Amino acid sequence: MKTIRFVFFLAVLVSYSANAYELATHGRLTNEAYKHSVLVKDPELLKQLGIKDKPNAFGESYYDVSGSEVRERQKNDFEESRDRMPREVNPLSLPGWLLRGAIREDDAYGEDNPQDDRDPANATLRRPLHHFFDPANNRPLTVTGIGLLDSDIHTAPAWGLGTTNANAFTQPNTPETGRRNHFTVFDAREAMYRALTGKNLAGDNVATTKEQRNRYWATAFRALGDVVHLIQDMGQPQHTRNDAHSGECSAALNAPAVAATSVPATLTEAVKTLQARRLA
Ligand SMILES: [Zn+2]
Repeated sequence: MKTIRFVFFLAVLVSYSANAYELATHGRLTNEAYKHSVLVKDPELLKQLGIKDKPNAFGESYYDVSGSEVRERQKNDFEESRDRMPREVNPLSLPGWLLRGAIREDDAYGEDNPQDDRDPANATLRRPLHHFFDPANNRPLTVTGIGLLDSDIHTAPAWGLGTTNANAFTQPNTPETGRRNHFTVFDAREAMYRALTGKNLAGDNVATTKEQRNRYWATAFRALGDVVHLIQDMGQPQHTRNDAHSGECSAALNAPAVAATSVPATLTEAVKTLQARRLA
Protein backbone atom coordinates (compact mmCIF):
# COMPACT_ATOMS: atom_id res chain seq x y z
CA MET A 1 0.00 0.00 0.00
CA LYS A 2 2.87 2.30 0.91
CA THR A 3 4.36 1.67 -2.52
CA ILE A 4 1.08 2.53 -4.26
CA ARG A 5 0.82 5.77 -2.26
CA PHE A 6 4.40 6.66 -3.11
CA VAL A 7 3.83 6.04 -6.84
CA PHE A 8 0.65 8.15 -6.71
CA PHE A 9 2.56 10.93 -4.94
CA LEU A 10 5.28 10.76 -7.61
CA ALA A 11 2.69 10.87 -10.41
CA VAL A 12 1.09 13.99 -8.90
CA LEU A 13 4.51 15.56 -8.44
CA VAL A 14 5.57 14.82 -12.01
CA SER A 15 2.33 16.05 -13.58
CA TYR A 16 2.41 19.22 -11.46
CA SER A 17 5.98 19.92 -12.61
CA ALA A 18 5.25 19.60 -16.33
CA ASN A 19 5.52 23.30 -17.16
CA ALA A 20 7.27 24.94 -20.09
CA TYR A 21 11.04 24.82 -19.90
CA GLU A 22 12.62 27.96 -18.50
CA LEU A 23 15.50 29.53 -20.39
CA ALA A 24 18.10 28.14 -17.98
CA THR A 25 16.68 24.66 -18.60
CA HIS A 26 16.99 25.13 -22.36
CA GLY A 27 20.61 26.20 -21.76
CA ARG A 28 21.40 23.12 -19.68
CA LEU A 29 19.66 20.67 -22.01
CA THR A 30 21.59 22.12 -24.93
CA ASN A 31 24.89 21.91 -23.08
CA GLU A 32 24.32 18.22 -22.28
CA ALA A 33 23.35 17.54 -25.92
CA TYR A 34 26.51 19.33 -27.07
CA LYS A 35 28.69 17.21 -24.77
CA HIS A 36 27.26 14.05 -26.35
CA SER A 37 27.45 15.33 -29.93
CA VAL A 38 30.02 14.71 -32.65
CA LEU A 39 31.33 18.22 -32.00
CA VAL A 40 32.92 16.82 -28.84
CA LYS A 41 33.17 13.10 -29.59
CA ASP A 42 34.82 13.32 -33.00
CA PRO A 43 38.23 14.99 -32.51
CA GLU A 44 38.76 15.31 -36.27
CA LEU A 45 35.55 17.16 -37.10
CA LEU A 46 36.47 20.62 -35.81
CA LYS A 47 39.91 20.32 -37.40
CA GLN A 48 38.34 19.51 -40.76
CA LEU A 49 36.03 22.52 -40.41
CA GLY A 50 38.98 24.74 -39.50
CA ILE A 51 37.50 25.64 -36.10
CA LYS A 52 39.50 25.97 -32.89
CA ASP A 53 37.58 25.18 -29.72
CA LYS A 54 38.74 28.05 -27.50
CA PRO A 55 37.16 30.46 -24.98
CA ASN A 56 36.55 33.13 -27.63
CA ALA A 57 35.98 31.08 -30.77
CA PHE A 58 34.37 33.55 -33.19
CA GLY A 59 34.36 37.05 -31.65
CA GLU A 60 31.40 38.86 -30.13
CA SER A 61 28.99 39.35 -33.03
CA TYR A 62 26.89 37.38 -35.49
CA TYR A 63 24.69 38.10 -38.50
CA ASP A 64 20.93 38.34 -38.81
CA VAL A 65 20.33 37.52 -42.49
CA SER A 66 17.01 38.17 -44.22
CA GLY A 67 17.15 37.75 -48.00
CA SER A 68 19.84 40.11 -49.25
CA GLU A 69 19.88 42.13 -46.00
CA VAL A 70 22.62 41.30 -43.52
CA ARG A 71 22.56 42.98 -40.10
CA GLU A 72 25.41 42.59 -37.64
CA ARG A 73 24.25 41.81 -34.08
CA GLN A 74 26.20 41.76 -30.83
CA LYS A 75 26.14 39.05 -28.20
CA ASN A 76 24.06 40.16 -25.24
CA ASP A 77 24.60 39.77 -21.50
CA PHE A 78 21.00 38.50 -21.30
CA GLU A 79 22.09 35.05 -22.41
CA GLU A 80 24.58 34.54 -19.60
CA SER A 81 22.87 36.52 -16.84
CA ARG A 82 20.73 34.87 -14.17
CA ASP A 83 22.55 31.58 -14.79
CA ARG A 84 20.77 31.03 -18.10
CA MET A 85 24.05 29.53 -19.28
CA PRO A 86 25.69 27.05 -16.90
CA ARG A 87 28.88 28.55 -15.46
CA GLU A 88 31.03 25.85 -17.03
CA VAL A 89 30.23 27.28 -20.48
CA ASN A 90 32.17 30.26 -21.79
CA PRO A 91 29.55 32.50 -23.49
CA LEU A 92 31.82 33.12 -26.50
CA SER A 93 32.93 29.51 -27.01
CA LEU A 94 31.40 27.22 -29.64
CA PRO A 95 28.93 25.70 -27.11
CA GLY A 96 28.27 29.24 -25.86
CA TRP A 97 26.92 30.18 -29.30
CA LEU A 98 24.77 27.04 -29.40
CA LEU A 99 23.31 27.86 -26.00
CA ARG A 100 22.78 31.49 -27.06
CA GLY A 101 20.44 30.32 -29.85
CA ALA A 102 18.60 27.91 -27.55
CA ILE A 103 18.04 30.74 -25.04
CA ARG A 104 17.13 33.47 -27.52
CA GLU A 105 14.63 31.31 -29.43
CA ASP A 106 12.07 32.34 -26.81
CA ASP A 107 12.43 36.07 -27.61
CA ALA A 108 9.05 37.75 -27.64
CA TYR A 109 7.71 41.25 -28.18
CA GLY A 110 6.70 42.86 -24.88
CA GLU A 111 9.13 40.86 -22.75
CA ASP A 112 12.49 41.68 -21.21
CA ASN A 113 14.65 39.71 -23.65
CA PRO A 114 16.74 41.56 -26.26
CA GLN A 115 14.56 40.89 -29.38
CA ASP A 116 17.18 42.28 -31.71
CA ASP A 117 15.77 40.72 -34.88
CA ARG A 118 13.42 43.63 -35.34
CA ASP A 119 13.14 44.12 -39.05
CA PRO A 120 9.77 45.66 -40.01
CA ALA A 121 8.18 42.23 -40.40
CA ASN A 122 9.36 41.27 -36.93
CA ALA A 123 8.38 44.40 -34.99
CA THR A 124 5.97 42.44 -32.78
CA LEU A 125 7.31 38.94 -33.27
CA ARG A 126 6.53 36.51 -30.46
CA ARG A 127 8.67 33.49 -31.23
CA PRO A 128 7.17 31.10 -28.63
CA LEU A 129 3.81 31.13 -30.42
CA HIS A 130 5.51 29.07 -33.16
CA HIS A 131 6.82 26.43 -30.75
CA PHE A 132 3.82 24.12 -30.86
CA PHE A 133 2.91 21.15 -33.04
CA ASP A 134 0.07 18.69 -32.66
CA PRO A 135 1.17 15.73 -34.83
CA ALA A 136 -2.18 13.94 -34.53
CA ASN A 137 -3.95 16.84 -36.22
CA ASN A 138 -0.99 18.43 -38.04
CA ARG A 139 -1.69 21.83 -36.52
CA PRO A 140 0.14 24.69 -34.78
CA LEU A 141 -1.13 26.51 -31.67
CA THR A 142 -4.78 27.22 -32.47
CA VAL A 143 -6.33 28.44 -29.23
CA THR A 144 -9.19 30.93 -29.46
CA GLY A 145 -8.05 34.50 -30.06
CA ILE A 146 -4.46 33.61 -30.95
CA GLY A 147 -4.91 35.35 -34.31
CA LEU A 148 -5.02 38.66 -32.47
CA LEU A 149 -1.40 38.10 -31.45
CA ASP A 150 -0.17 36.66 -34.75
CA SER A 151 -2.08 35.96 -37.94
CA ASP A 152 0.40 33.43 -39.33
CA ILE A 153 1.26 30.91 -36.62
CA HIS A 154 3.71 28.23 -37.76
CA THR A 155 4.04 24.68 -36.53
CA ALA A 156 7.32 24.10 -34.71
CA PRO A 157 8.71 21.93 -37.55
CA ALA A 158 7.90 24.59 -40.16
CA TRP A 159 9.31 27.35 -37.92
CA GLY A 160 12.56 25.46 -37.34
CA LEU A 161 13.00 24.26 -40.90
CA GLY A 162 12.07 27.63 -42.41
CA THR A 163 9.19 26.37 -44.55
CA THR A 164 5.48 27.12 -44.72
CA ASN A 165 3.23 24.90 -42.62
CA ALA A 166 2.06 23.09 -45.77
CA ASN A 167 5.60 22.32 -46.95
CA ALA A 168 7.22 21.19 -43.68
CA PHE A 169 6.85 17.49 -44.42
CA THR A 170 6.08 17.44 -48.14
CA GLN A 171 8.72 19.90 -49.43
CA PRO A 172 11.16 20.42 -46.53
CA ASN A 173 13.86 21.79 -48.87
CA THR A 174 11.65 24.63 -50.11
CA PRO A 175 12.35 27.72 -47.98
CA GLU A 176 9.52 30.12 -47.20
CA THR A 177 10.14 33.45 -48.89
CA GLY A 178 10.20 36.41 -46.51
CA ARG A 179 10.21 34.11 -43.47
CA ARG A 180 10.27 35.88 -40.12
CA ASN A 181 12.51 33.34 -38.40
CA HIS A 182 16.07 34.16 -39.48
CA PHE A 183 17.62 31.29 -37.47
CA THR A 184 16.28 28.19 -39.21
CA VAL A 185 17.96 25.07 -40.61
CA PHE A 186 18.29 26.93 -43.95
CA ASP A 187 19.99 29.84 -42.19
CA ALA A 188 22.37 27.54 -40.29
CA ARG A 189 23.30 25.80 -43.55
CA GLU A 190 23.78 29.06 -45.47
CA ALA A 191 25.84 30.60 -42.65
CA MET A 192 28.07 27.52 -42.50
CA TYR A 193 28.60 27.68 -46.27
CA ARG A 194 29.54 31.37 -46.05
CA ALA A 195 31.90 30.67 -43.13
CA LEU A 196 33.67 27.93 -45.08
CA THR A 197 33.82 29.58 -48.50
CA GLY A 198 33.32 33.31 -48.00
CA LYS A 199 30.61 33.13 -50.70
CA ASN A 200 26.84 32.85 -50.66
CA LEU A 201 25.03 30.08 -52.52
CA ALA A 202 24.82 32.32 -55.60
CA GLY A 203 28.64 32.53 -55.67
CA ASP A 204 28.98 36.19 -54.61
CA ASN A 205 31.77 37.12 -52.21
CA VAL A 206 30.01 37.97 -48.94
CA ALA A 207 32.75 37.41 -46.35
CA THR A 208 36.21 38.58 -47.34
CA THR A 209 37.82 38.87 -43.90
CA LYS A 210 38.54 36.35 -41.17
CA GLU A 211 36.30 38.34 -38.81
CA GLN A 212 33.35 38.18 -41.22
CA ARG A 213 33.75 34.44 -41.70
CA ASN A 214 33.92 33.98 -37.94
CA ARG A 215 30.66 35.94 -37.58
CA TYR A 216 29.07 33.44 -39.96
CA TRP A 217 30.36 30.57 -37.81
CA ALA A 218 28.77 32.27 -34.79
CA THR A 219 25.54 32.62 -36.81
CA ALA A 220 25.59 28.96 -37.86
CA PHE A 221 25.89 27.72 -34.27
CA ARG A 222 23.40 30.26 -32.94
CA ALA A 223 20.86 29.10 -35.56
CA LEU A 224 21.53 25.45 -34.67
CA GLY A 225 20.83 26.36 -31.05
CA ASP A 226 17.49 27.89 -32.04
CA VAL A 227 16.56 24.64 -33.82
CA VAL A 228 17.67 22.54 -30.83
CA HIS A 229 15.31 24.64 -28.64
CA LEU A 230 12.38 23.56 -30.82
CA ILE A 231 13.35 19.89 -30.57
CA GLN A 232 13.44 20.28 -26.78
CA ASP A 233 9.98 21.86 -26.79
CA MET A 234 8.65 18.93 -28.81
CA GLY A 235 9.61 16.67 -25.90
CA GLN A 236 6.96 18.41 -23.78
CA PRO A 237 3.35 17.17 -24.01
CA GLN A 238 2.07 20.75 -23.60
CA HIS A 239 3.81 21.76 -26.81
CA THR A 240 2.12 18.97 -28.77
CA ARG A 241 -1.43 19.89 -27.84
CA ASN A 242 -3.29 23.13 -27.24
CA ASP A 243 -2.65 22.83 -23.51
CA ALA A 244 -2.14 25.71 -21.12
CA HIS A 245 1.40 25.52 -19.78
CA SER A 246 2.33 28.81 -18.31
CA GLY A 247 4.73 28.00 -15.53
CA GLU A 248 3.77 29.51 -12.21
CA CYS A 249 0.71 31.16 -13.78
CA SER A 250 -1.00 27.94 -14.87
CA ALA A 251 -3.10 27.48 -11.73
CA ALA A 252 -4.44 31.03 -11.89
CA LEU A 253 -5.19 30.68 -15.58
CA ASN A 254 -7.31 27.62 -15.05
CA ALA A 255 -9.35 29.25 -12.29
CA PRO A 256 -13.06 29.91 -13.12
CA ALA A 257 -12.60 33.64 -12.49
CA VAL A 258 -10.30 33.88 -15.50
CA ALA A 259 -12.69 32.00 -17.75
CA ALA A 260 -15.41 34.48 -16.80
CA THR A 261 -13.47 37.57 -17.91
CA SER A 262 -14.25 39.29 -21.21
CA VAL A 263 -10.88 38.25 -22.67
CA PRO A 264 -11.05 34.63 -23.91
CA ALA A 265 -9.26 32.48 -21.31
CA THR A 266 -7.28 30.71 -24.00
CA LEU A 267 -5.88 34.00 -25.28
CA THR A 268 -4.98 34.95 -21.73
CA GLU A 269 -3.14 31.64 -21.46
CA ALA A 270 -1.14 32.38 -24.59
CA VAL A 271 -0.14 35.80 -23.29
CA LYS A 272 0.74 34.36 -19.90
CA THR A 273 2.82 31.69 -21.60
CA LEU A 274 4.91 34.50 -23.00
CA GLN A 275 4.95 36.46 -19.75
CA ALA A 276 6.07 33.38 -17.79
CA ARG A 277 9.44 33.68 -19.51
CA ARG A 278 10.19 36.65 -17.29
CA LEU A 279 10.40 34.24 -14.39
CA ALA A 280 13.53 32.61 -15.84
ZN1 LIG B 1 9.99 27.45 -26.74
